[in-house]
Amino acid sequence: MRRKLICGNWKMNGSLAANAVLLAGIKAGLSQSSCEVAVCAPAVYLAQCQAALTGSALGWGAQDVSIHASGAYTGEISVSMLQDFACKYVILGHSERRAYHGETDAQVALKMLRVIQAGLTPIVCVGETLAERESGQTQAVVGAQMDVLLAALDAADLAKLVVAYEPVWAIGTGKTATPEMAQEVHAILRAKLAQKNAKLAPVVRILYGGSMKPDNAQELLAMPDIDGGLIGGAALNPADFLAIVHSA
Ligand code: PEP
Repeated sequence: MRRKLICGNWKMNGSLAANAVLLAGIKAGLSQSSCEVAVCAPAVYLAQCQAALTGSALGWGAQDVSIHASGAYTGEISVSMLQDFACKYVILGHSERRAYHGETDAQVALKMLRVIQAGLTPIVCVGETLAERESGQTQAVVGAQMDVLLAALDAADLAKLVVAYEPVWAIGTGKTATPEMAQEVHAILRAKLAQKNAKLAPVVRILYGGSMKPDNAQELLAMPDIDGGLIGGAALNPADFLAIVHSA
């Protein structure tokens, strides 16, 4: 049985004051939740998350990590630095990082290995653009992204991975994949995982991300291979985020 995971991706939003209100609001509404819940904050606010959330049911993590362990990489943040702030999760390969920072599948795979070796949970994003979907390439695109990740990974480590299917055309646009569209891709991803390790594939969580909101979360989360959500816009409002958590 896979425990659902609802993870907020704050992207480059927030302030000390706004985060305090958001974290307190989420924490206050979490007590009856049985699913796993986390927020991935900008790195400068990880100390704030650690101070506010230690001992609570709400986990926290980062939105990226360096490929390198340490050294002359100005502006980068290593996985050991994330460990200093007790991060549990790291989002990797988000389409915004792929688009604006030129991240490749190979780089995302290396980051995934660093995160797993450090004992943190990578939430690795895959997804197709609108042009790719409209030209019938969805399966080929997400399949190729997964192939690079899985080629890098030890089969025995498969269960340490969380995958997020995020159709690029649905992120921040208000357009959501229908539950059937999302399930179809999730099933393809699960089959890929099974090619790597048939025994562990059923325990890997595959999240959906892309304009998941309180009014569509329940039907998406009811699909057999949708094991949670990676939430952008709706994660910035405690009531919306909690409504999604409660749907899960
Ligand atoms: C995201 O950025 O991961 C995301 C899913 O954003 P939104 O929910 O705003 O579409």
